[in-house]
Amino acid sequence: MNIKKCGIIGCGFVGSTTAFVLAGSGLFSEMVLIDINHEKAVGEAMDISHGVSFGSPVKIYAGDYSDLADCSLIIIAAGANQEQGQTRLDLINKNVTIFKSIVPNISAVNKNAILLVVTNPVDVLTYVTWKLSGFDKSRVIGSGTVLDTARLKYLTGEYLGVDYRSIHAFIIGEHGDSELAVWSSANVSGIDLDGFCTASGHAGGMQSIYSIYDKVKNSAYEIIKRKEATYYAIALAVRRITEAIVRDEHSVLPVTAYVDSHYGINDVFIGIPSIVGSNGVENVLDIPLSDSEAKALYASAETLKGIIKELDI
Ligand code: NAD
Repeated sequence: MNIKKCGIIGCGFVGSTTAFVLAGSGLFSEMVLIDINHEKAVGEAMDISHGVSFGSPVKIYAGDYSDLADCSLIIIAAGANQEQGQTRLDLINKNVTIFKSIVPNISAVNKNAILLVVTNPVDVLTYVTWKLSGFDKSRVIGSGTVLDTARLKYLTGEYLGVDYRSIHAFIIGEHGDSELAVWSSANVSGIDLDGFCTASGHAGGMQSIYSIYDKVKNSAYEIIKRKEATYYAIALAVRRITEAIVRDEHSVLPVTAYVDSHYGINDVFIGIPSIVGSNGVENVLDIPLSDSEAKALYASAETLKGIIKELDI
């Protein structure tokens, strides 16, 4: 296993932007790109390679599944993306079929990597990847609500006029319409949001803050309406998860993780704050939730379980 080598399957908007971001990260010395449209992977590898002399040395090439044998991390971003008016869950049948043609090829050559799923609907497809791969559940991760949480921090920081890195808050649950914001523990560097609004003279108080959740939830729809796809922020979210894995950071990130006997939820992959390190998901955390948040998380998990039950995997 080469800890400095990763594979990316799917070189569309998300996969190629992720490859570009990771190529500049210094985390890897070798990256293999795979796409059903091999020429697309070749073109992306050429384009990114032509810029690497401006950064750390990294070899990037278009390959096939045999090239994944020694990868420590394999990112899956292949499949259909949302069109205007589609929800993430609308993509399920198409992308499960695509995953059935991808995941067995990975496990045929590599049983020790960490698999990081980005394709939507990401929580359901992380479950599908776990089932199809036979990997330990801790080594199958989805990008979860890491992006949604970044959107929440950005928009809340913008509203309050403070550095978004000082906002501590999570979006959890499905990466999709049933996700929720955990406002009960949200804070600005230790100061609860309500107290911060009062102290800083934000007249709208918590009512205005609550409306930020709708903006977060609808972000992808708003971007897709204007430019057909979202890819920059998700690529940076994938980079953040990748850093936690490669550097064995034990970072708390709301990735899609296997949840069983937490929050009264069983047997589902869902976006939940988890400790992430070189072995993948090391621990799922039980963070304090208000009654309404706990109910919303349970309902989100039930939505995902209802879909998983119908799948032929
Ligand atoms: P895209 O259409 O630009 O790219 C998809 C790529 O997958 C294409 O290059 C296609 O050739 C390739 N592909 C299709 N079938 C394949 C197969 N069997 N094997 C290998 N490659 C195959 O789409 P995109 O905009 O890059 O989006 C990719 C996925 O990422 C979508 O499902 C999208 O919804 C999802 N996404 C997830 C998040 C997140 O937060 N998790 C954010 C943005 C997008």
